[in-house]
Amino acid sequence: MKYYGLNELREKFLAFFESKGHLRKDSFSLVPSNDKSLLLINSGMAPLKPYFTGKEVPPRKRMTTCQKCIRTGDIENVGKTARHGTFFEMLGNFSFGDYFKEDAIKWAWEFFTKELEIPKELLYVSVYEEDDEAAKIWHEQEGVPKDRIVYMGKADNFWEHGLGPCGPCSEIYIDRGEKYGCGSHDCKVGCECDRYVEVWNLVFTQFELKENGEYEPLDNPNIDTGMGLERLAVMMQDVDSIFDVDTIVAIENKVCELSGKKYKEDDEIDVSIRLITDHVRSITFMASDGIMPSNEGRGYVFRRLLRRASHHGKKIGIEGKFLTQLVDVVIETSKGAYSELEHKKEYITNVISMEEDRFAKTIDNGMSILLEYIDELKSSEKDVLDGEKVFVLHDTYGFPVDLTREILEEKGLKLDLDGYKKNMEMQRERARKARGVDTYMGNDGSVYDEINIGEKTVFEGYDTLESSSEIICIVTDEQVGELLENQKGTIFVKNTPFYATSGGQVADKGVILTSDSEFEVKDVKKIANDYFAHIGTVVKGSFKQGDEVQLKVEQGERRKTMANHSATHLLQQALRDVLGKHVEQAGSHVNADRLRFDFTHFSAMTDEQLEEVEKIVNDKIMSSLKVDHEIMGIEEAKTKGAMALFGEKYGDEVRVISMGDYSVELCGGTHVSNTNAIGLFKIVAENGIAAGVRRIEAITGKSVLNYYKEKESLLNEVCALVKSDEKSLINKTSQLIEQNKKLASELEAMKAKQAIGELDSILKNGENVGGVNLFKARVDVDFKSLEQLGDNIVGQDDSSFAILCSYNGGKVNLLTIASKNAVDKGIDCGKIIRESAKLVGGGGGGRKNIARAGGKDESKIEEALSKGIEVAKGLIK
Ligand code: ATP
Ligand code: MG
Repeated sequence: MKYYGLNELREKFLAFFESKGHLRKDSFSLVPSNDKSLLLINSGMAPLKPYFTGKEVPPRKRMTTCQKCIRTGDIENVGKTARHGTFFEMLGNFSFGDYFKEDAIKWAWEFFTKELEIPKELLYVSVYEEDDEAAKIWHEQEGVPKDRIVYMGKADNFWEHGLGPCGPCSEIYIDRGEKYGCGSHDCKVGCECDRYVEVWNLVFTQFELKENGEYEPLDNPNIDTGMGLERLAVMMQDVDSIFDVDTIVAIENKVCELSGKKYKEDDEIDVSIRLITDHVRSITFMASDGIMPSNEGRGYVFRRLLRRASHHGKKIGIEGKFLTQLVDVVIETSKGAYSELEHKKEYITNVISMEEDRFAKTIDNGMSILLEYIDELKSSEKDVLDGEKVFVLHDTYGFPVDLTREILEEKGLKLDLDGYKKNMEMQRERARKARGVDTYMGNDGSVYDEINIGEKTVFEGYDTLESSSEIICIVTDEQVGELLENQKGTIFVKNTPFYATSGGQVADKGVILTSDSEFEVKDVKKIANDYFAHIGTVVKGSFKQGDEVQLKVEQGERRKTMANHSATHLLQQALRDVLGKHVEQAGSHVNADRLRFDFTHFSAMTDEQLEEVEKIVNDKIMSSLKVDHEIMGIEEAKTKGAMALFGEKYGDEVRVISMGDYSVELCGGTHVSNTNAIGLFKIVAENGIAAGVRRIEAITGKSVLNYYKEKESLLNEVCALVKSDEKSLINKTSQLIEQNKKLASELEAMKAKQAIGELDSILKNGENVGGVNLFKARVDVDFKSLEQLGDNIVGQDDSSFAILCSYNGGKVNLLTIASKNAVDKGIDCGKIIRESAKLVGGGGGGRKNIARAGGKDESKIEEALSKGIEVAKGLIK
């Protein structure tokens, strides 16, 4: 077979389908947009779902992509089979109700046998057992011999996912020859071994599965095909596994170099080498799509993959940090097709490097805890570690379960995996409960899926805050014709000035009116991207479908929100200027009161940096920059240098907001028309909110004045309190502090004197046991005075012991002190104080001649003193 590099194959495929009238698109982000059913994109078809279901109209009826995919379901296969990675690229051609089976089969065959010149003798196809149509096309149209067409059942060759579109599929297999076979006499297509490899799956979406279980034929059937790029490369390069193809082997070689191990000498080491190779690809691409390590969702997948790679690195002898060296290779080999890798290189490397550090710390912590557990097991002569403890190690210390198991095994111990799983399940249940469901007006929102709203809403709110329009749909728990006084519900109109929550900007509030009725709009949401749901309550009269209405946005709030949104754009550019290009927006929230901006950066900002950012933004406000909005093609926007959201899916046409020549950003939000309308800008907080993500909160306009007004009145109050004017406030305050210090020390001196005054009465109340004078007393002075008093007591006689206690500043202090002869006779101050301290809820210790302790429980002081004397008596020889 002719040799093709992986990058070459990708290009060949896309160009081939382009020549067949397909629109070629870049890979979508790994982060699904508007699809809660999926954690990560796992096929070429996944990001195109709205086109298949008809929710959105595709830009062209034929499309072709090479899609980045992650399949966590394959994680256990990785390294063990030759054909699975958690990360891979999927080539696909798609028809949205355009061409069907015949063309899909024809082009697949043409691509394989003509374009790539794969010998026909190596190819097999499978079809669904009831799909004679496909079998016929393969045989009659393409001339595939009947004995090379294999019929398979529903499990293998029918694609369905719950109710909705589904259909049979047909797969193309390549025979890799006997050397890859399992040797079994019935080894054939479908065998789990590595001889016949499924490379391309053609899905013919021709039915809709109905609730009554019937498969109803679709009027416009679709085509969805998927072919693993790496698997295709394995065939064309005649190598053993996806880890040996040209681009990936470079990563693998680096793993070998770092570990000093040779590939293909030891099966177990090979698994680790392949696993690291794969996982590093996954995390590099995940980071480039803005995914951050965390303890849930996508972030957890990231964390788990990174930690697994790191752990296996240790296992095969790589010392210290190593992941970023591999990331470099991934970026080098894939940047041609994925320019974002190179563009975000510094950022990707930072995220991965930080998480690798964090894991190293975790391992140290977890290890010391695990060693404690092991000691406990040994001393109680058990050999199975509790499931709960395994869970705690994993959950609290992030210590991987397989690592726990390995370490236990080394010491001849086991772990209770079932118990661990039970705890894990309980944790999931708790998380599920905590998450709750999305609600619209107390409803779960699914009502919107079932209704037919009608026309898409036209948004007029960029230019106006008032419109008139017609009600086209009213919804409560179901679609209704009318909404009555005091009723809650949702109103859809043809055109609206109301902004619906999106892009971090909150929805407008306001009213919908007729001459005698009023609906208060409390929230506005976008349904299926295109319909604006005005959610609220009828406060007067009633509303019917078809009513002509006036829509009025509450202006004051909206204007403040616009100012805050525009300030957010200036802020982002200023942060890039001050901190560097690695600053990417990680989230934002803009309302009338304040703005919040989350961004990627790896350390706390210094006061100087904050001040500088604030100054730049205020300068830009005062330079009265004109704010323009323009619709343009995404490519043009990119050339203009527009800042886009990390990992966000944009259409072909985008809205670009520019402020003078300072800031250019893709944004669908509403903005002031000149930066001077923002007035003033002030940062009020800067914090870290996740690894590598900082958050700035800021205010604008009158809020800044109010902010300083509050500070001013605070200052005035303080001045009034200390009886000073502003100018001499600092002097006056320092004076007061000095005075206070002086008074405090005078007070202490008096207390000490008073303590000495107690000396006589303490001495009088002593008790002589076995030649030692024993004293106890409570005197509420500080520790220093207590010690002085103790010195004085035992100084009176060379065979004395005293236990003293005070309650001072909310704490109990205990002191035991003894002279030399008393110690010789058996007194041990350390021992005595430990017993006494327990009673007051504290601890301490010391030597035989002096010991100190603290405690909390004042009510137990007398008891503690008596206990001390009692223990002392027991010690005297
Ligand atoms: P398998 O049974 O080998 O796991 P699959 O049936 O899960 O494959 P599909 O869901 O049909 O595969 O995906 C379409 C194509 O994507 C496959 O034919 C294959 O080439 C590729 N593919 C699927 N999973 C992986 C993976 N984990 N790593 C690399 N390529 C994959
Ligand atoms: Mg699979």
